[in-house]
Amino acid sequence: MREYFETGITRHYFFRKDKLNKLKETVIKYQQAIQDALYKDLKKSPEEIWVTETGFLLSEISHTLKHLKQWMEPDSVSTNLLNIPSKSYIIKEPLGTVLIIGPWNYPLQLLFTPLVGAIAAGNCAVLKASEFAPATAAIMKQIIAETFEEQYVLFIEGDGATVIPEMMNNFVFDHVFYTGSTVVGKIIYQMAAKNLVPVTLELGGKSPCIVEEDANITVAAKRIAMAKFSNAGQMCVTPDYVLVHASQKEALIVAIKKALLQFLGNEAKDSYDYGRIINEKQFDRLLNYLQQGTIVAGGKTDKAQLYIEPTIMENISLDSSIMKDEIFGPILPIISFTTMEEATAIIAHNPNPLAFYVFTSSNKKETKWINAIPFGGGCVNNVALHLTNHELPFGGRGFSGTGSYHGKFSFETFSHKKGILKTPTWFDPNAKYPSYKGKLQIFKWLIK
Ligand code: NAD
Repeated sequence: MREYFETGITRHYFFRKDKLNKLKETVIKYQQAIQDALYKDLKKSPEEIWVTETGFLLSEISHTLKHLKQWMEPDSVSTNLLNIPSKSYIIKEPLGTVLIIGPWNYPLQLLFTPLVGAIAAGNCAVLKASEFAPATAAIMKQIIAETFEEQYVLFIEGDGATVIPEMMNNFVFDHVFYTGSTVVGKIIYQMAAKNLVPVTLELGGKSPCIVEEDANITVAAKRIAMAKFSNAGQMCVTPDYVLVHASQKEALIVAIKKALLQFLGNEAKDSYDYGRIINEKQFDRLLNYLQQGTIVAGGKTDKAQLYIEPTIMENISLDSSIMKDEIFGPILPIISFTTMEEATAIIAHNPNPLAFYVFTSSNKKETKWINAIPFGGGCVNNVALHLTNHELPFGGRGFSGTGSYHGKFSFETFSHKKGILKTPTWFDPNAKYPSYKGKLQIFKWLIK
């Protein structure tokens, strides 16, 4: 792969464009197979698959194709007084051979969307899919094998804890782009550090959702329920828990129950739109949380079907594991607050969430909340949908990750920005050269 990269072929605009178009064509060709695989792994509906996986990816490719030429152009920048009459510009170079590691919850989107950025920026890429969504991994392997030469994009399978250290300890990648849990993210970061390999870490965490006393409760309930129970809560930007103003708590619970009835019917188990937990290990972990408070809605489970009903809980201790771990399932703790200080103290137990949401009708409160909490990205009066806008950087901070991607931000993540100063030779005043004695005043004038 390195030799292939060094031929320089991946750098050309037409090469990148052609590969993105090919990826698009193959994904479209295998649309039905992708749908079948995601149904098998996670019981996702075709509509959900389009919005969160296939359509999401195709839209990222189209956006990239539309802007790639312009993104690749060098950026001219102004030149400081000391260097006049030089010119200054920034070129965007590919990094080389990059490793992209994906999780199981949106297995296609989260492996292939970073790949779009890697190709757009002119890199070779090794892809490591999660072993826990095997049907989707199999179809992705086929797509990659059919679309690209192995020296250009290579698809790797297997147990992450075995194959990733094997690769990272025996080959110096030029960048590692990892999406997954914070625990494994730390392992990846340590392995990368040995060779000073730069990383993008797209991690998880407990993303809070604030519902203020002046919020539109009906709308808040619908948007929270839609995002929280989509993919059975196995979404990195799902609202992990809700902090609601005490005066609105009962109204919010009633409204979320009503929204769930409207969305999924009396039995979510029979709903076309409701997914399943990925495996028994995750199912058992989630089951344990159901004992940690009062269930006010849902709570039914069926291990044979890996089914957990959309569940709302209250009376939860902040010391219980449900309020320490990322829930990553269809269980929504609702906690009330009366002052902002009280709520921010709860959020501070799990600092730097990946996402943050606030429902309020007051611009003043909105600004106050957004500025008070360090988080990756988020929404006002909405949930999770910020990640669908290509113009917004998507990523965490601190415990929820480092770096960002989507659209131009992906291109930048997989590019090196090389700053160049170009100086003409016709102007070469002696003042620039030693001896510098007596030139302090002129330097003070030039550099300030
Ligand atoms: P995970 O960390 O278990 O696995 C992610 C990847 O790492 C897989 O490909 C796996 O094979 C590999 N891996 C596992 N153990 C490893 C080890 N010891 N060494 C090297 N590699 C290893 O994550 P997951 O369970 O697949 O995904 C769920 C987590 O991902 C949640 O925390 C969720 O919030 C997070 N997530 C984040 C985003 C985001 O965009 N920030 C998106 C989706 C999921």
